[in-house]
Amino acid sequence: MTATIISGMTLAASLRAEIAARVGQLDYQPGLAVVLVGEDPASAVYVRNKDRAAQSAGLRATTYRMSAETTQDELLDVVRKLNADSDVDGILVQFPLPGHIDTSVVIAAIDPAKDVDGFHPLNVGRLHDGAAGLAPCTPRAIIRLLRQSGAPLRGARALVIGRSSIVGRPVASLLLAEDATVTIGHSRTVDIPARCREADILIAAVGRAEMVRGDWVKPGATVIDVGINRLNDGRLVGDVAYAEAVEVAGAITPVPGGVGPMTIACLLENTVMAAVARRG
Ligand code: NDP
Repeated sequence: MTATIISGMTLAASLRAEIAARVGQLDYQPGLAVVLVGEDPASAVYVRNKDRAAQSAGLRATTYRMSAETTQDELLDVVRKLNADSDVDGILVQFPLPGHIDTSVVIAAIDPAKDVDGFHPLNVGRLHDGAAGLAPCTPRAIIRLLRQSGAPLRGARALVIGRSSIVGRPVASLLLAEDATVTIGHSRTVDIPARCREADILIAAVGRAEMVRGDWVKPGATVIDVGINRLNDGRLVGDVAYAEAVEVAGAITPVPGGVGPMTIACLLENTVMAAVARRG
């Protein structure tokens, strides 16, 4: 059996078109402010992609570039100004921040109503409580990809490998809200391959190239590969050994072209949601 490929590119294009149509009906232009501190090349690429996607969906995107020497107080000043700016609906501070800045202090300074990354403690609490609010973009992207695959979530056994606050924990909460039975695996989990083989839904968010082998996948399972790993030969691969898993899974996301493009589309969606919630 060869798995159905769940294309994040196609799904993201249709979600971006939906968002653009929705923005076209508003009598204002939702505003997204992206703050980039330092010159991390990967972050610069992500920010450029977010900016382009936002503009093409009709949002007003502004990027604030700050030097790597920016102090925490200077960054907090910018965040406070953006909180107070009524034209700004969404604020995204690109991580990682330079080591001398406390990320958690910066996150807590963002107005929760403009927190389109969904990392503010208030939004994290709402998410884990099953309440409505701004949820992080990659986990929301994963749920949309799962829905697209047609895999039933209610009652399904889902394994999330990874317990980060950006991906693993929030996606587990979203899966729970979909009535899946959720297990979270991590570096101390005993016998990850056995846990994988039990999973109808397998989410790999580890950051280890091709760690999940084909014979770890339950036949017919739906596999969402969140990992982005650059090999020495320059190839970009996920956390799942794709060529092996595609022969066993029922459906699978590719890397690249799976979760990545959907994450950006969900950021745009969060910005429009934040705008509509704030402006009515
Ligand atoms: P983190 O490094 O924050 O977390 C990795 C998790 O994997 C940890 O919980 C860790 O466990 C667990 N882990 C590490 N080694 C093993 C192992 N051998 N067996 C089981 N679990 C293990 O990563 P992120 O969550 O931020 O990101 C994960 C991946 O997703 C990365 O490749 C990242 O680039 C990618 N990513 C992709 C995005 C996209 O849009 N496509 C967005 C965000 C991330 P422990 O907690 O015990 O250390």
